[in-house]
Amino acid sequence: MSKINLNAAEVQVRESRLGSISGFGGTAKELVTAARNGTLEDKNRSFSQCNGCSTMIAACTVSLIQDGVVISHGPAGCTGCLTMFSFTYKVNSDVRNNIKSFGNRRIFTTNMEESDTVYGGNAKLAASIKEVYERVKPNVIFIITTCASGIIGDDVAGTADEAEQKIGIPVVPIFCEGFRSKIWTSGFDAGYHAIARKLIKKTDKKQNDLLNVINFLGSDVFTQLLKIM
Ligand code: SF4
Repeated sequence: MSKINLNAAEVQVRESRLGSISGFGGTAKELVTAARNGTLEDKNRSFSQCNGCSTMIAACTVSLIQDGVVISHGPAGCTGCLTMFSFTYKVNSDVRNNIKSFGNRRIFTTNMEESDTVYGGNAKLAASIKEVYERVKPNVIFIITTCASGIIGDDVAGTADEAEQKIGIPVVPIFCEGFRSKIWTSGFDAGYHAIARKLIKKTDKKQNDLLNVINFLGSDVFTQLLKIM
């Protein structure tokens, strides 16, 4: 397993970082043995459907940050399933007891079109960051990448850095385009890597009775458990 490198903007996908697979052919015993030996191999399948994609999972990790917004840099279709974060958050609000009073999640798209994939989408991304900042006045902007912006090689990190200088809040790129990994949970790593790299500040103080639990989709199931301890 390789070390996490916070100097790198992009995080390794789980296939190469952990040797993860998404399918196995064999007995449970063979699975356990191969996992222990580090010899797991992905089962080749001729057909699969309904897999998630990393961009959606990365959005899941950051869209519940209450004073932040998410911009998906890609075609509108890549944000099609992201509305569920607002939905899940609302229908489960009873268990999200301490975040009840917040409104819909704020997720935008740069709406890349065919011409953007030919001429590049950096200008559209820069304009979107500016507009979103003026409309919402968030404290942080996350940019999630998609296959289209990844394939054409848009300079998302450079555009984010430039915008950050102009508007004075963190603009955090998350490299999570779907084609990058067959393991959609790589999106969690991409989201948390971006948070750790750009938002968490080093401190020399430590409070021994304080735990900071980051949990995707925001449900607080830990307070009751940890109280007992
Ligand atoms: S796999 Fe690619 S094109 Fe499909 S939703 Fe994910 S980022 Fe968009």
